[in-house]
Amino acid sequence: MSGEPPAPGVRVLLLGGTGEARALAAALVEAGIDVTSSLAGRVARPRLPVGAVRIGGFGGVPGLRAALAGFDLVVDATHPFARGMSANAAAACAAQGVPLLRLERPGWEPRPGWRYADGHEEAARMAASLGARPFVTVGRQELARFVPALRASAVLARVVDAPDLELPASWRLVTSRGPYTLEGELALMREHAADVLITKDSGGDFTRPKLDAADALGVPVVVVRRPDHGDGVETVTSPADALAWVLRRRG
Ligand code: NAP
Repeated sequence: MSGEPPAPGVRVLLLGGTGEARALAAALVEAGIDVTSSLAGRVARPRLPVGAVRIGGFGGVPGLRAALAGFDLVVDATHPFARGMSANAAAACAAQGVPLLRLERPGWEPRPGWRYADGHEEAARMAASLGARPFVTVGRQELARFVPALRASAVLARVVDAPDLELPASWRLVTSRGPYTLEGELALMREHAADVLITKDSGGDFTRPKLDAADALGVPVVVVRRPDHGDGVETVTSPADALAWVLRRRG
């Protein structure tokens, strides 16, 4: 979804919250591009990108459309599971005629024995059929969707910030933020005696060690599949390609 090249002095709105977005912000600043990174404000102490930053929702598509008056290009580098923001960006940019690029890291290469679920509830049910001591790493916002199927299980749930949710007594919550190491993941999974791992198909290296640890321990893995965007937005998978897209439109 790309339009006419804007005038020189292009202003980029970078929808962020990922390592790729921070890498792109750094590259754009380095290239002398006027970039503003946008964060949702979900986590208490976000890793801040270099350059200008704004924090908080825009107020849906109407709010984002209004905000686009200050920008010539948008790069949506939100997390692959931040589908609401991506849909809003697609709608607002189309309505305003602002070129939009999506930067989305590839999903993980499937490994033998991984089970794919088409949603969080299905992943919870699959995990319940596979083990009694699940290691749940799907993020704070999705935890509530795992409670019904895993209420009686000895769940180890890892999140960045504690959820605003009363968890079953048999659940244990750990708060931490990656990147993680294989040694650390092995130790945590052994200590909990985890017998099934649940993850979203986030992709990337940041949280990959849990997958290696599960493989090493013979622990089955349930992967929540990415929902389709289905909106035809031009997409690249690396910050370098996103930088090149912006530079081509610098004017
Ligand atoms: P979401 O469900 O797609 O978005 C819900 C609402 O949050 C959006 O409609 C928007 O509010 C606001 N929002 C989301 N991302 C924003 C951004 N970058 N800048 C300004 N407002 C934003 O998003 P989410 O899954 O809650 O993710 C929130 C943030 O965390 C994103 O920046 C994402 O990259 C990051 N993140 C998400 C995950 C994940 O698994 N979902 C994992 C790691 C990081 P308005 O409608 O008011 O504009």
